[in-house]
Amino acid sequence: MTESVVSPSAAAQEAWRILLVDDEPTQRLIMARLLKRAGYSVEVAGNGKEALAKIAAGDFHLMITDWEMPEMDGIALCRELRAAPGKGYIYTILLTARDAIEHVVTGLQSGADDYLTKPVIEPELIARLSTGRRIVTLERSLRTANEETRRLSITDPLTGAFNRRYLTEQLPHEIERAARYGRHLATVMCDVDHFKRINDTQGHLIGDEVLKWFCGQLHAGVRSSDWVARYGGEEFLIVLPETNVANAAIAAEHLRTRVAATPFPGVTGGLAVTASFGVAGWQNNVPKGSTFDALVARCDEGVYASKAAGRNCITARPMD
Ligand code: GH3
Ligand code: MG
Ligand code: MG
Ligand code: MG
Repeated sequence: MTESVVSPSAAAQEAWRILLVDDEPTQRLIMARLLKRAGYSVEVAGNGKEALAKIAAGDFHLMITDWEMPEMDGIALCRELRAAPGKGYIYTILLTARDAIEHVVTGLQSGADDYLTKPVIEPELIARLSTGRRIVTLERSLRTANEETRRLSITDPLTGAFNRRYLTEQLPHEIERAARYGRHLATVMCDVDHFKRINDTQGHLIGDEVLKWFCGQLHAGVRSSDWVARYGGEEFLIVLPETNVANAAIAAEHLRTRVAATPFPGVTGGLAVTASFGVAGWQNNVPKGSTFDALVARCDEGVYASKAAGRNCITARPMD
């Protein structure tokens, strides 16, 4: 019977990926063996250029790099890495035969986090790599927390749609981009009909469920490149990039019939829900100088007109 023994610490370190950069094959071999023995997953590169290519293609936590190498040395590599940081921070140790203090200073100033001289002392290298892992763990958890904070700051908590903050931040960019590159753009505003009545007859909690469901209907009925923001209480704005006003009107009519034909399933027997739509956008390319305020105001006028026309209908208003 064979017994496989995996040390827990080695297994735990399996996910830690090191990029080892050195132009000396023997040095690479010795170092790679040492690092693997310590539980690291190791990839090698022979110079700075190769290292940057591997970094672009892979997900490394740590890097150990030599200084003197052909094509691109370790100093240039560190500078490039810090000038254009990728997805995650790569903790970098410069490992070189150069041991003068000005070399240490240059190395650290180029963006290395630590500096070691050859020949390497194994326990010291392992200890310094642990320091690197602490920093990388910290950086990754901060980044995850930041991403989550950002996500929450642009999301409406009830419906999961983008919130008004995101809309007012992002739609002006969409308009500007469409104007610069001569693209189409349209927006659709929709407002649930007699929503106050739904709240009054079904209660506020069911009202909330209706809003979630309604927003789900919008998401399900638009293209994946379109996006939905909650504009206010029971009003949503849909942004349709690469779409002119005529095609946006078709999309809005599709949404209107979809909602009107599907009863809200959260109450016994289902509940008929309808909405009124205002469509605004350009017939052709978005002209320079177009504004968020003008586009949204035109949508708003459309909703108002749809309400006046008896609700459960769409009104499309071209900007040009
Ligand atoms: P209309 O057809 O003219 O749009 O009538 P309406 O009743 O939908 O319009 P009105 O603007 O008078 O009412 C909107 C209601 O939406 C009033 C407000 O209490 C309710 N509301 C706003 N936000 C929420 C929410 O998050 N949850 C619930 N349940 N109700 C909300
Ligand atoms: Mg070298
Ligand atoms: Mg309203
Ligand atoms: Mg309403």
